[in-house]
Amino acid sequence: MPVADHARGRPVAWFTQDRSGRKHKLRAAKAVNETGKCAVARCEDHRAGLSSLCRKHADRLKDIGDPVARVPTRNEIVIFEKAIDLYLATLPERRRREIATELDNRARVFQRPVTWAAMPSDMHRRLPQQARAEIIKAWLTKDAKDPRGFFKRALAIEGWAAVYFDGMPRYRRRFIATHATSWATTRGTPSKKLTRRSVKDDPTTVISTPNGWRHPKIETIWTEYQRAHISGPVKARLGQEALDAAHHAYGRGFWDNAVSTQDGQDMTLLDYTKLALRAAGLLPPA
Ligand SMILES: [Zn+2]
Repeated sequence: MPVADHARGRPVAWFTQDRSGRKHKLRAAKAVNETGKCAVARCEDHRAGLSSLCRKHADRLKDIGDPVARVPTRNEIVIFEKAIDLYLATLPERRRREIATELDNRARVFQRPVTWAAMPSDMHRRLPQQARAEIIKAWLTKDAKDPRGFFKRALAIEGWAAVYFDGMPRYRRRFIATHATSWATTRGTPSKKLTRRSVKDDPTTVISTPNGWRHPKIETIWTEYQRAHISGPVKARLGQEALDAAHHAYGRGFWDNAVSTQDGQDMTLLDYTKLALRAAGLLPPA
């Protein structure tokens, strides 16, 4: 049997040879790629590493899910969530129960044991994304966050994107998924409470002692939270799960559902939501 190039000599050397070759190739590929321009329109910067984007836009893609898209505001999201509730209220009782049952099932599947909620210090660099996602789920469980709220949020962000998304089409899905999790994990997840104490001189007062003049000491105690950073790709992975769960429960193409207004007009739920956004001054007149 022929021996592959990377498997000659003692096994201990295989890995090293293979990797050094790869590193060299990678460096060459990066050097070629970095001569190109960033894929964002009107950005004149050079590409970073193997990305089709410059450093600034690649970082934003990583954090936000899109290099340029505007992010949703709270007021906008509230209207999309309200629209979901309003629509559900128009459904027959039987269908509503179906949706509720499916949401319960999905929520059960989504939850993780509280004991899996690792400390921020355990979220080390070499931990795979899947493991991080599992830990975040356990934290959501520990913080008593209802996964059904997360699923609904993902659906709201999907509707938001249908109206407002102004990023690059190829990142649309990733943006929706990343944002669903950003909202679900605000002020939550891997954190550790630490009590800090510091002693400082009080420069406003001077006291006399046998050894001369000095400032009195003041002691301060405060609480600090050590938090783990949740990376964009991990957010995207969780958000996609939440969106899939929402699609299963509420149905795909949710925002295309037909609704009737009070004056008997038929329109899609999305158009109906746009009316509400215009009424709230969150969307310019059509
Ligand atoms: Zn750029």
